[in-house]
Amino acid sequence: MAKCINCGRESKLISKTLELCLECIRNDFEKVLPHIKKVHSKTKKRFGLPSAPPKDPKGVKCDFCVNECSIPEGETGYCGLRRNVGDKLLGGGIKDGNLSWYYDNLPTNCVADWICAGGTKAGYPEFSYSKGAEYGYKNLAVFYQACSFNCLFCQNWHYRNEIRSLINITSSDLANCVDKKTSCICYFGGDPAPQIIHSLETSNLALKKNKERILRICWETNGSMNRKYLKKMAELSLKSGGCIKFDLKAYDEKLNIALCGVTNKRTLENFKILTDFVKKRPDPPFLVASTLLIPGYVDKNEVSKIAEFIVSLNPEIPYSLLAFYPCFYMMDLPTTSRAHVKECKETAESSGLSNVKIGNVHLLSDAY
Ligand code: SF4
Ligand code: SF4
Ligand SMILES: [Zn+2]
Repeated sequence: MAKCINCGRESKLISKTLELCLECIRNDFEKVLPHIKKVHSKTKKRFGLPSAPPKDPKGVKCDFCVNECSIPEGETGYCGLRRNVGDKLLGGGIKDGNLSWYYDNLPTNCVADWICAGGTKAGYPEFSYSKGAEYGYKNLAVFYQACSFNCLFCQNWHYRNEIRSLINITSSDLANCVDKKTSCICYFGGDPAPQIIHSLETSNLALKKNKERILRICWETNGSMNRKYLKKMAELSLKSGGCIKFDLKAYDEKLNIALCGVTNKRTLENFKILTDFVKKRPDPPFLVASTLLIPGYVDKNEVSKIAEFIVSLNPEIPYSLLAFYPCFYMMDLPTTSRAHVKECKETAESSGLSNVKIGNVHLLSDAY
């Protein structure tokens, strides 16, 4: 049970780290913003990460993501990975990817597994080896160890301990990990945005080497990357039969800043841009959205706004509502309840979305 420092309300649906209730974030944002900034700064400092994107007029600029850092000599960008060494940017480039990778047998628990070519009959025979799930094949899962957001509920927070480790995997080395039984590559993390050129180059090399056969390229992302890279991602996924999975964490920018430390304006704009590609290849679906149902914060109203946004672009875009597992700085919140997920699913469907799914069903709890 935690207390909102703004209105004094106590609830088990208020995070002890954030110390703010949803209503105060929505309705009293200017007043609580300094506190939100303090919380994010503290949680980043613990890992030696900058509390805000550096904006040094004499620094080296990085345009990989929405943070658009200008990094002073000897320091790093908001993500902690891209760094200015002798007025050159290192980290996350073609030759110095900070990542870990593994093979995942298909069908795997991808966010899009219920509609993609690896997990279902979709895309056969052009983009899939099988009339159903691709048993006998595998996914090359690429975990990029840095992120452009600072989500307090991060489900993969451990990568923060690896951001400064000097792991330098080249795109070429990673592309060589695609063997005969690899039918898709999925870039996630952290987030692919701070290492976006590494993932693009890896994809180009891997596709070139596997020209005569199916190899799908997929991304799972917070959507904060620069538009020029987004378009390249889209072209690669489109032609290979892969998909782009956008995590729409909130619709309200204020809530996104409170939960993730960063605006979601770029994410929503990028999502909109990608909808232009959806009709070019309906099978398997090119674009998929997901939202984590964080108890006390991502409620029915938030889901309704996200759903209306997607419907306004294309009501057939698949949408996955994911159950929350208490993690990182939101350890004290409960898992998503059945009632919460039910009302969010009904809301999303009544907004007009035709393909809504509940993910992580095993995590659902009875009541708050
Ligand atoms: S990487 Fe893409 S094709 Fe492979 S299982 Fe995941 S979503 Fe499906
Ligand atoms: S990737 Fe984003 S957060 Fe990292 S340095 Fe570049 S602009 Fe900043
Ligand atoms: Zn409050």
